[in-house]
Amino acid sequence: MAESTVPVLIVGGGMAGLSCAAFLGLHGVRALLVERHAGTSIEPRAIGQHPRTLEHLYPLGVVEEIRTSPGVRCDNWRIVVGEGFGGAELESRQPQLDVSDLSPVGWGTATQQQIEPILRRSAVTHGARLMFRTELVSYEQRRDDVTAVLRDLRTGAERTVRARYLVAADGHRATIRRAEGVGTHSVHERWNRVLHHSLNIVFDADLSSVVPSSEALLYYLRRDDIARTFVTTEFPDRHVLGVEAAAPLPTAECVDIVRAVVGIPDLPVRVVSQHTWQMAAFVADRYRVGRVLFVGDSAHVIPPTGGWGGNTAIGDAAELSWKLAAQVRGEANDTLLDSYEAERRPVAEALVGQSLRNYVTRIAPHEGLDGLPPDTDPVALTFGFRYRSSAVADDGPELPDPPDHRRVFDPGQVAGVPGARAPYVRLGGGRSTLDVFGRDWVLLCGDDRWNVTVPGVRAYRVAGPQQQRQRQRFTQAYRIDADGAALVRPDGVLAWKSVHAVDEPAARVATVLDHLLTGRYDRR
Ligand SMILES: Cc1cc2nc3c(=O)[nH]c(=O)nc-3n(C[C@H](O)[C@H](O)[C@H](O)COP(=O)(O)OP(=O)(O)OC[C@H]3O[C@@H](n4cnc5c(N)ncnc54)[C@H](O)[C@@H]3O)c2cc1C
Repeated sequence: MAESTVPVLIVGGGMAGLSCAAFLGLHGVRALLVERHAGTSIEPRAIGQHPRTLEHLYPLGVVEEIRTSPGVRCDNWRIVVGEGFGGAELESRQPQLDVSDLSPVGWGTATQQQIEPILRRSAVTHGARLMFRTELVSYEQRRDDVTAVLRDLRTGAERTVRARYLVAADGHRATIRRAEGVGTHSVHERWNRVLHHSLNIVFDADLSSVVPSSEALLYYLRRDDIARTFVTTEFPDRHVLGVEAAAPLPTAECVDIVRAVVGIPDLPVRVVSQHTWQMAAFVADRYRVGRVLFVGDSAHVIPPTGGWGGNTAIGDAAELSWKLAAQVRGEANDTLLDSYEAERRPVAEALVGQSLRNYVTRIAPHEGLDGLPPDTDPVALTFGFRYRSSAVADDGPELPDPPDHRRVFDPGQVAGVPGARAPYVRLGGGRSTLDVFGRDWVLLCGDDRWNVTVPGVRAYRVAGPQQQRQRQRFTQAYRIDADGAALVRPDGVLAWKSVHAVDEPAARVATVLDHLLTGRYDRR
């Protein structure tokens, strides 16, 4: 059996695994990724990328391609809950698509089938090695490495790979997480179960007279206590109807269901495919066991009633990869990897709570909203998180946690607070924070005193001396004085700031960085 050594082995080639491979490559670590399928996903699932997801993907150079993907054939991203098409609406939600005051990247409209090939190409461009039709058969975790047995599904040949870390991006079945004995929890124990057995019927039919593309993106149709979902796709006249069923149905029955829902008894319908899936809402109790780390659906299953699952998978990958790379390069100690769970688990918990709330109001009102968190604005869920961990230098009670211990704030409230997303600002010279975040630690300052040389940190002075307004915007956004500075992590999270100038700024920044990477930051 051939044996080879890699720094990181990623199991699973979905959004989590592919983006993790690309991000690791960006940080100089060439991972090996194995995926048992022959290619990327063929199931219509996720639609659209949140602005924060696109900010994470920006340094990979793929955002333009994602934004220009044709996306679903729909001109209105409204979400409707009603009895049928064109009838009375029980609820209607128009997502706030204009977030230009927070970020210039906006939303992406690519589908899962469009974004996965883009991520796949990006992973290869950034040096990852991808092996499709290859599965993880077994693995053993030891003190210094993980030894994995991989099988080529075309030939049956097996090989052993030794990796310093194993990233489990193996989806909701989470075989690796289960093998590690890690359980799950939900907002409340009553939600820690399969909520709904779903069947997506993909079909072709001309529905232009019934469901105009200008009306809505997503319909939750509730009639006689039966809930169904309807969404269109990127292909002309191709749509997806979601019904409650645990297994595929006879084709004729699918056609009857489509005709009944649409309300045209003789509608020509061609059933293209059927996909079963389970609606669930839980988060792993741990995101890490030694050298094994969980990302994406392996770490959390978020009901699609909010469109967060795939976006959160990419967010996990972005946050984990720079920490893993720092660890592989020997710049950090184990506490940095522990901060991955401390930061990302509360995010998944908040998103599971909100998506469950949407599930109840849109699909299952009989379940009741008892014990679910209050309705939270999707823009706050996108931009308003604040991480609390050893990788953040949160010096003072600048912003106390909300009483319910969730870490979600109004984006304006959390802007400039360590642990939150570093606000977008223009830097001058045609550049913005988008262009400089993503790869290195960045020190932003408005004053030459901070223009220091510290290994691993790139210092940027915001604007030239004559561009007073730009500098003012920066100091306001980061809530520092004109002689202060802000240290931003490779994932675009504000790690530390100094409101004023300090003596020996280079030594101060070097010490802060070292302490953040090794969990020794001394909070005042
Ligand atoms: C109907 C539906 C609609 C959705 N809509 C949205 C949406 O609008 N927005 C959104 O953000 N999210 C949405 N989601 C959620 C999103 O699809 C998932 O969160 C996302 O696909 C998770 O990506 P992942 O990489 O973690 O897992 P997956 O995509 O499941 O990938 C895991 C991969 O691991 C592979 N694998 C498993 N075990 C092994 C092994 N032993 N060896 C090799 N390979 C292995 C599997 O073959 C699989 O390809 C939706 C989900 C569904 C079901």
